[in-house]
Amino acid sequence: MTTQEASVTIIPGVGDKIAENLDRLGIRTITELLRWFPRDYLDASNPLPVSRLPYGRLAATEVTVVSSNARRSKARNIPMLEVVFEDGEGGRLLARWFHQSFLKEKLQPGSQWLLIGTAERFQGETVMMSPIIEDSPRVLAIYAQTKGVTSRMLRGYIDWCLKNADLGTGALPEAVRAAHGLCEQSDLLRTLHQPEKVEDVDNLKPQLAFEEVFWFFTRMALARTSVKVEKGIVIETDVEWLRRVVASLPFSLTDGQKPPIWDAAKDLAEGHPMTRLVNGDVGSGKTAVAALVAALVAKSGYQSVILAPTEILAKQHSQSIQGLLKVAGARVATYTASQKDDIEEADIIVGTHALLQEGVSLPRLALVVVDEQHRFGVKQRQVLRGQQELPPHLLSMTATPIPRTLALALYGDLEVSVLPEKPAGRLPIETQVIHPNQRAEMYKVVAEEIKAGHQAFVICPLIEEKPRKAAAEDGQFVILTEEEQEARSKKTVLAEVERLRKEFPELGTIEAIHGRLKGNQKREIMERMARGEINTLVATSVIEVGVDVPNATVMLIEGAEHFGLAQLHQFRGRVGRGAAQSYCFLCPTLRGEKIEQRMQALARTQSGFEVAEADLALRGPGELSGNVQSGLPDFRMASLTDLDFLRKVKGVVDEHIMKNPEFLREYAGAAYSNDWGSLE
Ligand code: ADP
Ligand code: MG
Repeated sequence: MTTQEASVTIIPGVGDKIAENLDRLGIRTITELLRWFPRDYLDASNPLPVSRLPYGRLAATEVTVVSSNARRSKARNIPMLEVVFEDGEGGRLLARWFHQSFLKEKLQPGSQWLLIGTAERFQGETVMMSPIIEDSPRVLAIYAQTKGVTSRMLRGYIDWCLKNADLGTGALPEAVRAAHGLCEQSDLLRTLHQPEKVEDVDNLKPQLAFEEVFWFFTRMALARTSVKVEKGIVIETDVEWLRRVVASLPFSLTDGQKPPIWDAAKDLAEGHPMTRLVNGDVGSGKTAVAALVAALVAKSGYQSVILAPTEILAKQHSQSIQGLLKVAGARVATYTASQKDDIEEADIIVGTHALLQEGVSLPRLALVVVDEQHRFGVKQRQVLRGQQELPPHLLSMTATPIPRTLALALYGDLEVSVLPEKPAGRLPIETQVIHPNQRAEMYKVVAEEIKAGHQAFVICPLIEEKPRKAAAEDGQFVILTEEEQEARSKKTVLAEVERLRKEFPELGTIEAIHGRLKGNQKREIMERMARGEINTLVATSVIEVGVDVPNATVMLIEGAEHFGLAQLHQFRGRVGRGAAQSYCFLCPTLRGEKIEQRMQALARTQSGFEVAEADLALRGPGELSGNVQSGLPDFRMASLTDLDFLRKVKGVVDEHIMKNPEFLREYAGAAYSNDWGSLE
């Protein structure tokens, strides 16, 4: 049996290249792969005869090979396999594949297959292009995928894991499982990835919600226990000095920013390691909170590390913190994959996970600040410690829109500080859903903003266009093959830059930023944007978190239906950071009632908390989404608004810990392997 901590490279067929691609999904180990839950299911358990296949929609049919013919296509002169099938009821179907002539071997005349694809009528024939081939009728799991890793590949790898890996890791304690009538871990995983019927998955949802919340509270309990028993570095606050530093800031702190700073100051003096969460909406000014707490630490002669999820952000934080702390006199250094300042003498080191990976030595480390906490795992403090006797304090900052009441119920008053407001003088961001006939009008507004000296962001879902026709359907619940999904993300950064340059010269200097650029290239583009040398920046979701260009007043989101509401709210938070009126244009590519509802929900409110609630209401509690973009990383399955349910599970955890004192220690020893994947 393979352990779940093993790297994915032990799976036959997964080499370094594919491992790297999987890494982009946050999948490094077998556990993480098994926790990559399907984002949807394709029910191919009841195939249709060819005569009843709907045209233009994905469906399954069971057919037998009559003949096959490998040749080159006339139009594009590429290798093409053409296979004639019949269904035993007089139905005939022609299937074509490009660049897959090797399938000829498999598709021997007389053999029977299940084909899943979109049937079209072409020159009097029923044709399917590149259908999925399966042995027999079944329910297929559809996974969120990334470049170089298709849903089909993921199905294969997960199938191998289900057969070869130890599925017990991460299981609920047996007593808890039995007392609540839940199924075993191995059955759970098998049903999720390879259900016999789609309803089987529905029946698991309550269990998934339960498990997710159970482990969440276990983690919280662990964090608290270690906090209480361990000794921490004592850092006293020089109140007079802090007042002077605060007075020297370019703005006065909001009423929301002060309490977290004082709370943290108290924690630091207490003699135990702090574990504080600062939860504030996008744009509420969390960076200044972190800077001041780090300044306090520097004043006592200790070092702080501020971890940012991306290089762009690290660089930006580094600059803004330097600006804020001139009077405090803290020395700020940057440490990322592409910029490695000398950090030994620095007081505040702003960096990415390069700091964790390279095991840098920081003998005076006393504080770790984790920005956008859900992007990292939970182990930063452990990784960064071990170099001195006492563990560093931990301050995590997140814009994860957990409603305030709930945050308090979950974490308790002691460990969470909520930033309820934005700095004064901010206008609400005018948010509009744009339909095709309104686009010309929209670009006029953008052009006016640029003319007035402001800047614009344009977000596109993918980097390059796949030249394939998308089967446009109303609503988002049409299940698509992997190629179709990619094709649907129509607007792509590179094509969009070209198009805008050609059609809208009034948008000024237009540049692109996306995940394929090197760290220093990204940084250069962001610096030019910050200096106002770029007027319009076309981006993939790399700019999602934390980027701060107060002069930008337009956020235009193409293919807006591809993003979760919480993520759209994050994008929107990139503008409206100065005194000027800002705009957010949501441009869905597809139409449909569901999509319209979601977009309007965002247009209606400015509050991240309300957005989160609307998101949950629209998705429905416990909807199985495996959604990378939901913005609620810790609660994919559970309803965040169901306080009673959360309380109940918390009770189960507390009781279990009381009856089994060794449980937490074992859990800690398992190195957090029970995390539900790392969601980005
Ligand atoms: P977030 O909470 O999203 O991380 P930031 O820390 O990036 O927000 O702050 C958003 C913007 O607001 C920045 O441009 C920052 O300089 C500015 N800002 C922060 N605090 C204040 C304040 N008290 N008054 C005015 N502007 C502020
Ligand atoms: Mg931020």
